[in-house]
Amino acid sequence: MQVLKFGGTSVATAANLQRVAQLVETAAQHTATVVVVSALGGTTDALIEAGRLAAGGSAHYRTQLQRLEDRHLGVVRDLLPISEQSAVLSLVKTHCNELDSICDGIFALGELSDRTLDRLMSFGEILSSRLLAAYLKAQGVAHLWHDSRQLIRTDSRHGFATVDSETTNQQIQAFVAAQPCQIYVVPGFIGSDAQGVTTTLGRGGSDYTAAIFAAALAAERLEIWTDVSGMMTADPRLVTLARPIPRISYQEAMELSHFGAKVLYPPTVQPVRSQGIPLWIKNTFAPRMKAHWLK
Ligand code: ADP
Ligand code: ASP
Ligand code: MG
Repeated sequence: MQVLKFGGTSVATAANLQRVAQLVETAAQHTATVVVVSALGGTTDALIEAGRLAAGGSAHYRTQLQRLEDRHLGVVRDLLPISEQSAVLSLVKTHCNELDSICDGIFALGELSDRTLDRLMSFGEILSSRLLAAYLKAQGVAHLWHDSRQLIRTDSRHGFATVDSETTNQQIQAFVAAQPCQIYVVPGFIGSDAQGVTTTLGRGGSDYTAAIFAAALAAERLEIWTDVSGMMTADPRLVTLARPIPRISYQEAMELSHFGAKVLYPPTVQPVRSQGIPLWIKNTFAPRMKAHWLK
């Protein structure tokens, strides 16, 4: 068993989703694979913005939601052969209608609670993971999509929920045992509390989702696929002389991420460290580049 997580840039366009599907198909040839997917790059920010606009009484939230819907529908059209599109287009539309209703409610009340914001944000990962699954299906790649909210149990601290590891591990293990499959596709970032209410794991939390699955399944490896080839001495977007760190300990990786290395969400390290699961950070756009192994 292995867990592969693909971040927002990796799944931002139809072409990128196709690249991801190819990587997944190849990787899953040697062992069963859980694929954790982030929202299409920029989606979570756009959802938050829509919620804030609605709460602030600005009807521009509708434009924002329309843009999100158009973007996802556009990806479906670019991604799938015409014969496969209609079911997925209507799935995206159903989710977007629900999103519209939630934002209409926020607008009517002039109020956005953390709980509602979690619900809003959850649509990003639900949609992106559905798109990847739809493409795998169109390619004839056997897989199982599952909603992580049914597996990851958290407390009710909306926005930064804490995972109940015991229940979560047990739910993940029971699910995989009951439904054996070579490829599982799940949305990152989201969970639910004991009442079944949607929660989120903190911004950047899809990395953490992947680590939770890896630990629960005693995976042989966790791979975080992103737009850089591993942890670097500084953020390459800010420091042109940033260099890749060839090998790094769990402890150093955790410290770097705490000090702002956005490439890894800090809570990700603990679950894999506790079981000695190797953690690789790989570049979706340069998969052959030497990646990093944190141990
Ligand atoms: P994803 O959407 O794949 O989760 P993120 O944007 O969350 O990707 O994280 C990747 C980004 O982290 C890189 O594009 C890079 O700009 C930034 N980053 C910040 N600090 C570091 C660092 N020390 N090493 C590598 N990347 C870093
Ligand atoms: N989509 C979420 C975010 O933007 C989670 C993630 O990408 O890891 O924070
Ligand atoms: Mg990230």
